[in-house]
Amino acid sequence: MSARETEIQFVKGVGPKLAELYRKLGIETAADLLYHLPRRYEDRSHLPALNQIRPDQWVTVKGKITHVDSRPVRGGRVIVKALLTDGRYGCALVWFNQPWVKRKLQDYRGEVIAYGQVKEGASYYEIHSPEYELLDEESDPEAFARIVPIYPLTEGIGQAQMRRAVWRALDQWLEDVEEVLPASLLKHAQLKELKWCLEQIHRPKSEEHRREARRRLVFEEFFVMQTALAMRRAATQQEAGIAFPIPEAALWEEVKAFLPFQLTGAQNRVVKEVWADMADPSPMNRLVQGDVGSGKTAVAACALLACVRAGYQGVLMAPTEILAEQHSVNLKRLFEPLGIEVDLVVGKLGSRDRKRAYERIASGFCQIAVGTHALIQDGVEFQKLGLAVIDEQHRFGVLQRAALKSKGMNPDVLVMTATPIPRTLTMTLYGDMAYSIIDELPPGRTPIKTHWRRAADRSQVYAGVRELIQEGRQAYVVCPMVAENDKLQAQAAEETYTRLSESVFPDLRVGLLHGQMKAALKEETMNAFRAHELDLLVATTVIEVGVDVPNASVMIVEDANRFGLSQLHQLRGRVGRGSHASYCILIADARSDDAEERMSAMVETNDGFKIAEIDLRLRGPGEMAGTRQHGNMDFKLADLIQDADQLEVARGFALKLVKADPKLEHPSLRLLKERVAQKSRQMLDVTSA
Ligand code: ADP
Ligand code: MG
Repeated sequence: MSARETEIQFVKGVGPKLAELYRKLGIETAADLLYHLPRRYEDRSHLPALNQIRPDQWVTVKGKITHVDSRPVRGGRVIVKALLTDGRYGCALVWFNQPWVKRKLQDYRGEVIAYGQVKEGASYYEIHSPEYELLDEESDPEAFARIVPIYPLTEGIGQAQMRRAVWRALDQWLEDVEEVLPASLLKHAQLKELKWCLEQIHRPKSEEHRREARRRLVFEEFFVMQTALAMRRAATQQEAGIAFPIPEAALWEEVKAFLPFQLTGAQNRVVKEVWADMADPSPMNRLVQGDVGSGKTAVAACALLACVRAGYQGVLMAPTEILAEQHSVNLKRLFEPLGIEVDLVVGKLGSRDRKRAYERIASGFCQIAVGTHALIQDGVEFQKLGLAVIDEQHRFGVLQRAALKSKGMNPDVLVMTATPIPRTLTMTLYGDMAYSIIDELPPGRTPIKTHWRRAADRSQVYAGVRELIQEGRQAYVVCPMVAENDKLQAQAAEETYTRLSESVFPDLRVGLLHGQMKAALKEETMNAFRAHELDLLVATTVIEVGVDVPNASVMIVEDANRFGLSQLHQLRGRVGRGSHASYCILIADARSDDAEERMSAMVETNDGFKIAEIDLRLRGPGEMAGTRQHGNMDFKLADLIQDADQLEVARGFALKLVKADPKLEHPSLRLLKERVAQKSRQMLDVTSA
């Protein structure tokens, strides 16, 4: 029977009882066992003489037991101490509260091999709670004095049990393992074949072999994922989309006339990329990344202009009503002079107004609709939708597309995000989209100065803020998340608000904004702040994205160490939008080295991508904004930080393969195709969960 057909309970040495536990680890068959990869290794191949060992070293020692002793200690516990000698020198093996070890070793005359960390001892060096094996006829010294794999376990299965099961599976089934990757790829990417790699990942002959084996298995993981993404992208390109007529010269003329500023080089480049996608008959699926303030709205406006001029309707969706409204104000200002009709559709419109807006959209009178993401979910009918711009909620790009398609529309989709993410993550999360980056800020910005202050310096910070407010500026005070709980967060913000408005700045106009407030009140507050009827706004992270008040030039972030770096960077982007010198004051006490490094990073750089790289390194990919529970992030072995180069290489090969054989139809790709299909399902599953 093949490994895949052999249920785990029928692997020798497992049986029905242990099988339960193996299944907990996701191991259902013998084949799963072959792919249960070690999480680390211990090099026990080198056996030092016992006079060579020193405290703190991890060592494997071999010898005979000459003396075993046990003595009770406090609390009814027992210490077992055994003296191990190699004939000339000795060391002590010590076990706590494992009285049976004494019985096992007492009458044993053969050799013992033990692994653990060396400690100082009374008369000999000691190894506490060592792993050990008795070397009788049956035991295989190979199994111990070597680089030993350490496996992920669950309670009830020990390392030795797991090791034996995996190694048995190797002995029995390795020969039948089929190669997944085509031979030509192995050759070009200089990878060893699968069988060899599975053997060497579980029973490495040497560190070099292990590394070779790992490199290939990591490559395979990346390659399968990247092939799935490339195929998805290729499939989109096969769909019938809209080939917008794009009269570039005329459009550029119009853009020059309708934008109040000149596009930056980066904006210019991205607009060209977007227009080229629109002109193409296959549907656009493009992600535009640009740091806060890089001017993504202008790029969206250029795309919408081309769409409307081609006779289609456009829609722009933002994550919150505040942002949707802000977009609609900006777009109306740009488009109304051109006679282009822009409608805002948000929940707070009365039912009459909403009905009217829906009618305008359905009749095609409205040319650009602006709203929240609910716009697509609610039953809005478009007369002739050509372009959907999705602002700030990159995660939902795929879903929005699906929602649109299920309504029989297949417009071009442009997703904009101000969350700079490192390239490795972009390739992983959005590898199925085309990708543009606005890597230049509009001219004339004064960079934000960021300072890190301790809680004890608050009154000084407040004095500085007061000065700026007296000069006519406005300020934000941002309160941290409390255990990701909206209610607690709101409560904390309210307390800060009371403190600031009553004791610190009783003479100033202080406002409050948090997620638990009614939409109308939020909006009223935001409008008051925008109109400079408030000097200082105490807020939670609701102001994180997109809020644009140029006169606000200082932000205090309370308990800044509780935020992710990328999030702090987003927040900081709320200031520095006007021509005034701007400041961001992070209040945090250095409770950890981590805090020191994180706050210093914020102070030192304004570059969102650099910050994202640091964030990725410090927190790992699982914790970065928007990546949690993302099926594309699910790797057995691969590590996005450590293996970034491999990812690039794998992506290159995947793109080439899919270009040559978009459906993987060649017979040599049968197994790979299966794997890719499986990965693809897994990615979609989690995205839509
Ligand atoms: P983002 O959405 O990328 O954070 P916005 O599109 O809101 O940035 O633009 C930020 C500010 O910069 C806006 O006030 C906008 O009018 C201005 N802006 C955008 N592009 C330019 C440019 N090329 N030159 C001057 N100002 C610009
Ligand atoms: Mg924006």
